[in-house]
Formats: sequence, C-alpha cells, structure tokens
Amino acid sequence: MSLENILSNAQRGQRELGAEKKVGWDEVTQGVVINAFEYDATNVSRELSEDRKYSDFSSYTATVASWRIIKPIYNRDICIDCQNCWVWCPDTSIISRDKQMLGIDYDHCKGCGVCVEVCPTNPKSLLMFAETADGEECLAGWPVKEKKAKETETE
Ligand code: SF4
Ligand code: SF4
Repeated sequence: MSLENILSNAQRGQRELGAEKKVGWDEVTQGVVINAFEYDATNVSRELSEDRKYSDFSSYTATVASWRIIKPIYNRDICIDCQNCWVWCPDTSIISRDKQMLGIDYDHCKGCGVCVEVCPTNPKSLLMFAETADGEECLAGWPVKEKKAKETETE
C-alpha cells in the first residue's frame, strides 16, 4: 500500500460524506456498521424471526439457495428433538419452536452438512441428498438402524 493511500485513509469519512461520486471498495470507511434491523433491536431476540423487521442489508431478506448443490432432508419419525442441529447450524437455518424441530429454512441453508454430523439418532434424522432429490423418495429409502458391533457378533 502506498503512503498516499494510508494518508487518504484518515480522511475517508469526510470523503464519503461529501462525495458526489461513489467511492471504491478500498475507500469505504473501516468499521462501518450495517444495521440488520429497521428499528432498535434491543429486544429482538424475544421476537420470532418471521415477526422481525429486517433491513434490506440483512441476509435474511435474500435467499442463498442457488449456491447449494446438496441439501439436508429431515425425517420427523426418527427425530428426538434434541436441538443439536438447531444449536450447531452456522446459518440459523433449522426451524424450531418450543424445542420442537420443525424443518429446514431452505432459503438460507447453504448445504454444509453440519446438522447431519451432529444429529445423534440411529439412523440419523437428517441426511444430505442432491439438491434435485425428491423429498418423499429420500424418506422412502431412509437407512435402517445400524446394529452395534457387539449385537452383530452374537447373531
Ligand atoms: S446443511 Fe448446514 S446450513 Fe443447512 S441446515 Fe444443515 S447445518 Fe444449517
Ligand atoms: S439433531 Fe437430529 S434428533 Fe436432534 S433435533 Fe436435530 S434432527 Fe432431531
């Protein structure tokens, strides 16, 4: 970085406020805050996500589903509502109400598979499938319970 850029760094706020043209990516003020909500969010954690007023800058208002090439499918019949997937999902894409797992927010799920890794049931209550897979067909072909090594030996 040149000395000229370092010096202009100190004046970034002023340049943007008075700018008649848009600034470049390397001229944006560092440490700027982008509000995720349209109002004071002090108590926003008490509101359900669908009741919150997200700003246009929030990722909640945009879908990322087009990135995904594999997706998790959820099997309600096996789930024990342990909430592991809800806790570990890095994109808050597990939908849970009153400690009951309800499904997946496919608008925001990125298909990372973390929820499947942390699901403790046997077989798992979440499994990854191709993005184009049919949900009903996936459920119909769900794996059966795996026997522990000891059970297999005694047979
Ligand atoms: S695949 Fe990843 S992003 Fe999608 S629900 Fe599971 S943990 Fe969340
Ligand atoms: S981790 Fe598995 S068993 Fe636990 S709530 Fe999620 S899907 Fe259900």
